[in-house]
Amino acid sequence: MHLVTIIMNALTATNRNFRHAARLLGLDSRLEKSLLIPFREIKVECTIPKDDGTLVSYVGFRVQHDNSRGPMKGGIRYHPEVDPDEVNALAQLMTWKTAVVDIPYGGAKGGIGCTPKELTKSELERLTRVFTQKIHDLIGVNTDVPAPDMGTNAQTMAWILDEYSKFHGHSPAIVTGKPIDLGGSLGRESATGRGVVFATEALLADHGKSVKDMTFAIQGFGNVGSWASRLIHARGGKIAAVSDVTGAVKNPNGIDIPSLLKHKEKTGSLSNFNGGDSMNADELLGYECDVLIPCALGGVLNRENAREVKAKFIIEAANHPTDPEADEVLSKKGVIILPDIYANAGGVTVSYFEWVQNIQGFMWDEEKVNDELKKYMTKAFHDIKSMCETHECNLRMGAFTLGVDRVARSTILRGWEA
Ligand code: GLU
Repeated sequence: MHLVTIIMNALTATNRNFRHAARLLGLDSRLEKSLLIPFREIKVECTIPKDDGTLVSYVGFRVQHDNSRGPMKGGIRYHPEVDPDEVNALAQLMTWKTAVVDIPYGGAKGGIGCTPKELTKSELERLTRVFTQKIHDLIGVNTDVPAPDMGTNAQTMAWILDEYSKFHGHSPAIVTGKPIDLGGSLGRESATGRGVVFATEALLADHGKSVKDMTFAIQGFGNVGSWASRLIHARGGKIAAVSDVTGAVKNPNGIDIPSLLKHKEKTGSLSNFNGGDSMNADELLGYECDVLIPCALGGVLNRENAREVKAKFIIEAANHPTDPEADEVLSKKGVIILPDIYANAGGVTVSYFEWVQNIQGFMWDEEKVNDELKKYMTKAFHDIKSMCETHECNLRMGAFTLGVDRVARSTILRGWEA
């Protein structure tokens, strides 16, 4: 029941934010409706033999939300909670996200309802190949370009690339987030976490502050959380608490992140780290800090725990971590929220650089990737701020009005009523 509530909220909240932005922009109600409805929703049954020979079926989805600004773009998630409404909400968020950072893409999202940790590598490979066989005609370098998301990684993209290429010939630009050996971009692995830090720097600079003056609490220590932590630590920011599914650690004097990374690599867990004290992971969101960065699942901040938040700033590194009721509680408390469709857009931005490099057949060095990422993230922050001034709204609505306005303009230019 609890999970169902969270999932419904993701779509309801996304639609609500979109409608609010459409109203601020004064969009024609028919255009508003046409922007909200997804372009195409795909549902496929993927049956694979397990290693022991038994057959098992999984349901896979790809929702292609909008393509008015370019090929649809978004990750593929392997997670037990994947469901059509959630994929729908996340596909829509991708449309606004790619527009906020002004890259020439639309939005899409995919997923398979499975628990990847319970599958062997060869089972995951078979599942990925069957899923690709079922959707290969509906994706394409100039149509819809998948990427990693929760539960998937560069290896998953390598299997998709290989399977897709059997039907369409060698097509490195069909997926992003690939291994470097297959045409992946330098800097893609760290891009979402690095983008989170560039976004945080832009927000703090706007308040006359910098990362080194701040204390942080980070929820989630996977790809995004660990890269964000590493880069914040390297800039002199004090990380006072970190949590993930394996446990939580606190140290009011600051956690030594390189040692915590080594500990996690060695033991597979955050527990029993001797550079801090263990705590209950549930306490992290209310931990004493200036900046709270949720980097894990959606819907983690609700009406109850939002009251406990001590942070002055929340950076939404996860997709949709704050439910609408929490949003209300936090805004009453004066907490400034940097919204997901901007804060975590570094991943898709470097995906765009990867796609450009594949099409150019020319590889950039990592410095160029990181410099370009900083430019895109900083510009987007200023674009959001100017929407906030025009529409007298908070950063979430500033980002939504920015994204929706850009998509609406290209839709109108294409002649949407025809
Ligand atoms: N899955 C990431 C996201 O939610 C990246 C998507 C991409 O690179 O296309 O933004």
